[in-house]
Amino acid sequence: MSSFTRKSIISTMLIGSVLAGTAFTALPMNHSLIPVASAASSSFSQFLHDNAPSRTVTTNSKGVATVTNLSSTVVLVNKKRNLPSTYEPKDLVVPNIPFSFSGSSPKKQMRKVAASAIEKLFAAAKKDGIDIKAVSGYRSYATQKSIFDRNASIKGEAVANKTSARPGQSEHQTGLAMDISSASAGYDLQQSFGNTKEGRWLKANAHKYGFIIRYGKDQEKLTGYSYEPWHVRYVGVYIAGEITSQKLTLEQYLERGK
Ligand SMILES: [Zn+2]
Repeated sequence: MSSFTRKSIISTMLIGSVLAGTAFTALPMNHSLIPVASAASSSFSQFLHDNAPSRTVTTNSKGVATVTNLSSTVVLVNKKRNLPSTYEPKDLVVPNIPFSFSGSSPKKQMRKVAASAIEKLFAAAKKDGIDIKAVSGYRSYATQKSIFDRNASIKGEAVANKTSARPGQSEHQTGLAMDISSASAGYDLQQSFGNTKEGRWLKANAHKYGFIIRYGKDQEKLTGYSYEPWHVRYVGVYIAGEITSQKLTLEQYLERGK
């Protein structure tokens, strides 16, 4: 107990508040710090254990793997792990942030926990004089299917598979992802966004608000996707900090829970 440093207590309290939004009840922040830290830290190991890739997937007779922790903030969706075609988050809301387009659209939505986090990210950007806009958030299975089919018909299936997700394999279906761009990048979703002032700010600051740049530079072999400096994924402040500072992919980080 005495080995707890102030820093570890604070970061463990952060974990508690991150988890409070998901599977855990809020932990009391007053009273004695050490019991709170211990409880949060064992809950956190349990949380990672429960969300380990090997424990959160079921494979059918045709070999199709479907994820089982659909509503977890660390749900792992990739080319090997599908969301069910029927999955739609229950708590989608439109965050109060600037978008690159006007009018209402399902793609303005995110899950509640991610929406309030992205509002904080945009407020911080504004404070730093960074002008970014949200381009695309939630996407249903059906919408993803039409995007992939269109890309495949234009570029061929192999190229489409590197740059867009197959239906059921998009993080946008989780409601935890948002594509972000800037006027300096023409509100386009291009790798050049990563070299703009705004793209650099996003890379340096996203983790403070619970987001990771999900498909990093030089991580193509690990994620299956080209570098996407515009695509942020909510995982919670503590985990985003760990993934970012250790330059990991979400896949690598979650493997630790096994
Ligand atoms: Zn995206």
